[in-house]
Amino acid sequence: MGLNDIKERIAKAEKQAGRAPGSAQLIAVSKVQPNERVEAVLEEGHRLFGENKVQEAAGKWPAFQERFPDAKVHLIGPLQSNKARQAMQLFSAIHSVDRPKLATTLARLAQELGACPDLFVQVNTGEEEQKAGILPAEADAFIKEVRDLDLPLKGLMCIPPVDETPSLHFALLAKIAERNGLDGLSMGMSSDFEQAIAFGATHVRVGSAIFGERDYG
Ligand SMILES: *Cc1c(COP(=O)(O)O)cnc(C)c1O
Repeated sequence: MGLNDIKERIAKAEKQAGRAPGSAQLIAVSKVQPNERVEAVLEEGHRLFGENKVQEAAGKWPAFQERFPDAKVHLIGPLQSNKARQAMQLFSAIHSVDRPKLATTLARLAQELGACPDLFVQVNTGEEEQKAGILPAEADAFIKEVRDLDLPLKGLMCIPPVDETPSLHFALLAKIAERNGLDGLSMGMSSDFEQAIAFGATHVRVGSAIFGERDYG
């Protein structure tokens, strides 16, 4: 538990996988956590965070970034097109690009704003109805579509089904990325980030193992 423990475990997992130190970036997922906990992790020197809701991030990150100007936040949750402009101004990366309409909106706004966050295509590797993400069978065509829009596509993201072996999903995501020439792999959470690193994760998204359980009450 805690930031240093997770950083050590990441370093160990990188080493075991024969990977360069620092090749798996830690996104500290701060959603729902009280500001004091987030502030403590900022004070410890960590600068990369993840949020899953635009509104929640907009309510807390501008103030943190006034005090910690080099802090960056990635959007790891679903994005509605009508919040895309706000998201592009708040986040340095968006991990949830999952449909043509959103890609088109992002491309239009990128032209208008003259900048675009790094993008990841979310793949619904478990083909779960309730989950966001493009289906694996449609991923190659969608990746091409995003590239044809001249968007800065960095990689792929997945959230494995809770009741399945995550490594199967990490392997599938890595395979889709490889055949499409993408380096970025956003995968792995508190319970499985070491496995994700073994399968090539470049971004692990860890929340409760750093900050403690989320209190939704
Ligand atoms: C909340 C969340 C996480 C972090 O989950 P933990 O189990 O707390 O590490 C990672 N990825 C996404 C997309 C999330 O919404």
